[in-house]
Amino acid sequence: MRNLTITRVQEIEDNLTTVRARMDAAAGRAGRTPDAVTLVAVSKTHPMADIEAAYGAGQRDFGENRLDEFWEKVEAAKARGLNEIRWHFIGTFQSRQTSQGVAPFALLHAVDRVKIANRLNRDAGEADCVLQVLLEINVSGEESKHGFAPAAVKQALPMLLGLPNLRINGLMTMAPFVADEARLHAVFSALRRTRDELQQMAPDADLRQLSMGMTNDYEAAIAEGATLVRIGSAIFGARD
Ligand SMILES: *Cc1c(COP(=O)(O)O)cnc(C)c1O
Repeated sequence: MRNLTITRVQEIEDNLTTVRARMDAAAGRAGRTPDAVTLVAVSKTHPMADIEAAYGAGQRDFGENRLDEFWEKVEAAKARGLNEIRWHFIGTFQSRQTSQGVAPFALLHAVDRVKIANRLNRDAGEADCVLQVLLEINVSGEESKHGFAPAAVKQALPMLLGLPNLRINGLMTMAPFVADEARLHAVFSALRRTRDELQQMAPDADLRQLSMGMTNDYEAAIAEGATLVRIGSAIFGARD
């Protein structure tokens, strides 16, 4: 490993071990198997050497939320031979940026409005590819949060499922930043119920993915059915 002390590598490995153990325990308590939940290591703002340390510990799914940083890291990962990374884009798009979403992402987690979905579909069509996406839902209704209101996504779903160059895999949400366990569970179970309702409306679609849970709330999210958790600080430490 370049540029990294042994202690930093060890720290990231230890953090990953702890997070994975807590994820497995949370899945077990909910009667789910450990492989039902994928850990996306949110590496935004952290250097490539940190990603390499996590990769060395077996981590393959990484999340970024800025396109310029993402592209830098894609190039750096190639140069370092980290060829098995699955990149997740967890940020939202400005309308002028959607062409940059047609990129080597395994999954775009945060398609937050119809206009962005249409533009991503158009740009993916021009590039002759299909993007795997989640719809971000603003479950808590906080004004500061991105995403479709649950009622609005029901209305938009038929149109969204008809976009030929987007494949909707499920839903994503960000819980409010609170310590109140009951409130967190309520938000996560509401996302799952919204997904279940959409799945009933569109039985031919495959909406199995629920991206929910971060450092402070991933165990509650797993209890409520998360299939993807997006965890940064618990693995890489605090961001500046
Ligand atoms: C930064 C970020 C995360 C990770 O947050 P932590 O609290 O550090 O785990 C998860 N999801 C999104 C959308 C983010 O922007």
